[in-house]
Amino acid sequence: MELIDGKKINLEVRAEIAKEVNEMVARGEKRPNLAVIIVGDDGASATYVASKVKTCKEVGFESTDIQLPDSTTEAELLAKIEEINQNNDIDGLIVQLPLPKHISEDKVIEAIDFKKDVDGFHPINTGRMAMGFTSYLPATPAGIIELLKRYNIDTEGKDCVVLGRSNIVGTPISLLMSRKAKPGNATVTICHSRTKNLKEVCSRADILIAAIGQCEFVTADMVKEGAVVIDVGIHRVKSDKTKSGWKLKGDVKFDEVAPKCSFITPVPGGVGPMTIISLLKNTLLAAQNKIYN
Ligand code: NDP
Repeated sequence: MELIDGKKINLEVRAEIAKEVNEMVARGEKRPNLAVIIVGDDGASATYVASKVKTCKEVGFESTDIQLPDSTTEAELLAKIEEINQNNDIDGLIVQLPLPKHISEDKVIEAIDFKKDVDGFHPINTGRMAMGFTSYLPATPAGIIELLKRYNIDTEGKDCVVLGRSNIVGTPISLLMSRKAKPGNATVTICHSRTKNLKEVCSRADILIAAIGQCEFVTADMVKEGAVVIDVGIHRVKSDKTKSGWKLKGDVKFDEVAPKCSFITPVPGGVGPMTIISLLKNTLLAAQNKIYN
């Protein structure tokens, strides 16, 4: 069994991005600039945003952090998005989700200029991805693809089972795994809460991607000997073994599943570190006009 080390790959990609930024600056070009809008004071969102801003600085990006109060109306947020859409200094824009209940996430996602949509959630980017056109790929699925690529994991003709069909993970990763590409060319089954015989379906998988949002859902009896297991889940659980009093677990029961695998991502340190780095990669591509001119 080999551990897929997301932290290590994060550092590799980070160094590659920083090198490109240095070269851009040396040529007299401006630094990539990522704008992040956060509405309200949700603690978890604030932590994610702080981490995004910190990583931006580390790779030499500018970042524009826009904090709006919980009382912001939908119209005010849409106006702010339009202002950033029109601002040529800003290459990429993300609006941190979830949003307060009185704001429609769908409207917000559609309001972002698809050329600046580095989260890859806009229907134009999703549609282009589905058709195999160039587009911004959503960060977590893109991170999974990068891990498979850098570990030279063969996906062609393999049976891939994806647990979960959300718009941000399950559905896009199933599209990417079935695309005519490398990694890709897998035969994909997508499972959700109405799937019958889930255990049996999972145990046929050469590659099992768990994005189900249920702590330690995947157990050893659901996994084929020699399978590649990618655990997307993140769950904060109480622990008396750590100083902080909690630890992170995934959607996979790691201790019993890992011995059966050829490759597995740990939680933490697997898929998680790849998400932010994929977002930065999209911002770099945006600044270089590599996806859209
Ligand atoms: P969602 O809750 O949006 O989706 C979960 C999916 O799993 C749904 O499609 C749901 O089915 C399905 N599901 C839930 N319970 C069952 C069940 N008992 N049997 C079969 N299917 C089930 O989750 P996300 O996709 O947003 O996230 C998944 C996990 O990944 C979470 O733990 C989240 O924290 C983590 N995550 C990690 C990221 C990272 O950077 N590592 C980034 C994003 C998410 P249905 O559609 O029928 O309801």
